[in-house]
Amino acid sequence: MRHALRSPVREYGVALCAVLAALLLTLVVRATLGPIYFPLLLAAVMFSAWYGGLGPGLLATALATLASGYILLPPSYSLNLNREALVQLATFVLAALFISSVSEAGHRAQAALRDQGERLRVTLASIGDAVIVSDAAGGVTFMNQIAEDLTGWGQADAHGRPLDQVFRIISEQEHRPVESPVARVLREGVVAGLANHTLLISRGGEEIPIDDSAAPIRDEQGQVAGVVLVFRAIAERRRAEEALRASEQRARALADAMPQAVWTARPTGEIDHYNQRWYDYTGATPEQTMGWGWQAALHPDDVQRCVDGWAESVRTGAPYEIEYRWRRADGTYRWHLGRALPVRGGDGRIVFWVGTGTDIDDQRRAADQQRFLVSAGTLLAGTLDYTTTMERMAQLAVPAVADWCTVDMLDEQGVLQLLAISHVDPDKARWARELRERYPIDLAAPAGAPQVLRTGRPEIYPEISDALLEAVAHDAEELRLLQAVGYRSAMVLPLQVRGRAIGALTLVATESGRRYGPEDLALAEELAARAAIAIDNAQLYREAQEAIRARDQFLSIASHELKTPLTSLMGYVDLLWRRASRDGSLAERDLRALRIAGEQAGRLNRLVGALLDLSRIESGQLSIERGALDLGALARRLVEEGQQMIDQHALAFDGTDEPLVVVGDELRLEQVLQNLIQNAIKYSPSGGQVSVRAERRDDTACVSVRDHGIGIPATALPRLFSRFYRAPNAEEQQISGMGIGLFVVKEIVHLHGGEITVDSHEGHGSLFTVCLPLASGLRDIPAAKERSR
Ligand code: ADP
Repeated sequence: MRHALRSPVREYGVALCAVLAALLLTLVVRATLGPIYFPLLLAAVMFSAWYGGLGPGLLATALATLASGYILLPPSYSLNLNREALVQLATFVLAALFISSVSEAGHRAQAALRDQGERLRVTLASIGDAVIVSDAAGGVTFMNQIAEDLTGWGQADAHGRPLDQVFRIISEQEHRPVESPVARVLREGVVAGLANHTLLISRGGEEIPIDDSAAPIRDEQGQVAGVVLVFRAIAERRRAEEALRASEQRARALADAMPQAVWTARPTGEIDHYNQRWYDYTGATPEQTMGWGWQAALHPDDVQRCVDGWAESVRTGAPYEIEYRWRRADGTYRWHLGRALPVRGGDGRIVFWVGTGTDIDDQRRAADQQRFLVSAGTLLAGTLDYTTTMERMAQLAVPAVADWCTVDMLDEQGVLQLLAISHVDPDKARWARELRERYPIDLAAPAGAPQVLRTGRPEIYPEISDALLEAVAHDAEELRLLQAVGYRSAMVLPLQVRGRAIGALTLVATESGRRYGPEDLALAEELAARAAIAIDNAQLYREAQEAIRARDQFLSIASHELKTPLTSLMGYVDLLWRRASRDGSLAERDLRALRIAGEQAGRLNRLVGALLDLSRIESGQLSIERGALDLGALARRLVEEGQQMIDQHALAFDGTDEPLVVVGDELRLEQVLQNLIQNAIKYSPSGGQVSVRAERRDDTACVSVRDHGIGIPATALPRLFSRFYRAPNAEEQQISGMGIGLFVVKEIVHLHGGEITVDSHEGHGSLFTVCLPLASGLRDIPAAKERSR
């Protein structure tokens, strides 16, 4: 029975027809062969039951019973049967019932089988894989749709053909036929998988990469009755795998080509991949650095910071960015910028981390060095004391450029003296000093400071070997000490002043493990050059100080020597003058001579005084007394005194009567005003008006001195108050002095916390104004003018 669906109408119809047909046939046969009753009807029942099962069988039985009882058994067309006929009929019914029920069982078994077969067929057809079933001889008995598609064979075509013909396979690499798994299954009766990399050759010649397995079908006796072959095309998967591999390869190649270290880490923070650059850089093995092993390659001072930072990023998912030092394979530490970003999956969860380490040592070093040199410059410029300069330099060098720094200078006897020493570890600095005392530097030594002093050229020892220490050490004890210091690398630089090496700067690397290279040497040379300039300045300053002291001493003595006779001389001149004018005892000429001598002595006296002041200012020793005084009254007195000396109308005073009290040194302030008044007279044509004015301006007391003399050229004004100012025109230089006066005046005014200003135009006179702060008690009292209002 081929049709899949059962139809009760048809089955019962068939039963009806079969009984009718059997009845008609029986009637026909009876007409020729004599009376037969049941065989044909029995056959009809059997057929109905076989075809339709129990129901149609019973229907046929019933119909056949009725037909034979009514028509076939005598009396025909009557149900009035005799006993014999009834027995026959009953026998028939029993036989028919038996046949029906037996047929039903067969029918059911068949239906079940059919059902199972159908299920299997549907399963095989709908399975995602290709399936071919063969019999024990290897002939194809079944193929599903996918198998048809892949092999290019139709089920009908393939049916009965040897499986080898339909399922042709070769090895992918050698392109040679490989043994079909079906053959193996048939031979060995075991489940067989396919060798890797197999190509199926379709009927059309196409090569399809497949993956397969075959299993035996066994019959009831356990004999192999056939084989089920299952296979699938793997091109798609293969392509995906290849694409993945290619993209991974690309990513790795990219990472390896980068000048940075690149790594990836699991979401938990363990590093699971480094690029080649990392291994080349650190010289580490994957085993050493996977997971959290990278810590070993960090500078010990940076480990904690990095571990904490990374753990924090892993915990929060925040990007990681940090600067740290990595140890290169050669043992040097270089600064790196470490960065890591999380890569998240579709659900937002971190799938892995990608990190990089970029060498920023050069940039950092350049910036550090620049900073270092700038601070060195400021620090060294901050002092003019020679020893302090050297000590500062030694301190500056540690730990910026060295773990240990010494400065040695040649003294007057040509002996190398240790001037300054500093060490990262202060205890060691002391210890190093002792070492130096026990083993003074031998100036004949072939290396180190003595050599540098001789050649004037720096020396660098990138790597200090034991052999080098042995060569330097004087005895076993010193060698032991030197070795204990743990020298790694060193540089010695000459300190050159005006082309002469006067000392040496020694920089040693110990605990830091750094090794000096050309860049370090360049930096150290810069430092040495700056230090040398500072030394030079300090020396120059010291010499200048000494010169000033010597000059001071000379001037003090000179002034003392000069002043004594001068005073008496001037008093004597004065006496003679007065007496002569009273009694006319001296000739006019003699009197003039006397006066000139007196004036010259006075000028000399003033000059000496000015020079002393200058010297005091330069050495910072000009000091002022402090007392309350009335600046207005002082100006008035000076004008009145001046009027005695020169034409009374040429010098005038104008000022308020209110006291202009300032705190200061009366003698010094007198010197200031005197100087301004004298200049005003000196640089005015004879008879020119000079007016002095005293007034309060806000919180200051001001005295201004105005003349209508030659004035000061605009170009000269900015330098007017500087030391040794010389007037620009020759004519004026004739009468001008050394140009110290205004410099001293300015200094004195500044010491009083005041200001001096000048307003002058060449040929139109000058106005000098000195303003000093009013004594604090007066500040709050309104000025006189305001008070009167
Ligand atoms: P000295 O008068 O001894 O040269 P000063 O320092 O007092 O020194 O003055 C410096 C210079 O300033 C003078 O040489 C002169 O050229 C100029 N000077 C000062 N006061 C006046 C003034 N009132 N008028 C014109 N020039 C002046």
